[in-house]
Amino acid sequence: MERFKDVLKASNLKSTHQRLAILDCIDSFGHIDIDAIYEHIVPKYPSMSKATLYRNINDLISFHILEEVKLPNQKQQYEIKKVPHIHLLCTHCSKVEDVFVETKPLLEAVTLNSGFTISNSFIVMNGTCKECKA
Ligand SMILES: [Zn+2]
Ligand SMILES: [Zn+2]
Repeated sequence: MERFKDVLKASNLKSTHQRLAILDCIDSFGHIDIDAIYEHIVPKYPSMSKATLYRNINDLISFHILEEVKLPNQKQQYEIKKVPHIHLLCTHCSKVEDVFVETKPLLEAVTLNSGFTISNSFIVMNGTCKECKA
């Protein structure tokens, strides 16, 4: 929780209990959709509506504290903004994993081969996770 207080402060955002609870929840799950966040948070904050949750999430996205995770054929998920990384989606258990490999050479190769200027990218690889393979 403490580290998120600092993160919010650095963006001049008030550290409300609701925002901290949202960040803590997303952090503990890694990647999570809005319904799951709501289910997790509503017992602690029964007065929080889904509209308030959406608003808080959108505020945190606009301040680059949260990021949307856009996975094909999946509900929109959210994660704490990290350095650029690749997402691994297990097609058996639907688990989403982050893998931190250098994406810059790949993006440079794409630009070099296509002349395309990349403004942002979201890389997902599908397959079988370690646990499902075992
Ligand atoms: Zn799996
Ligand atoms: Zn991620």
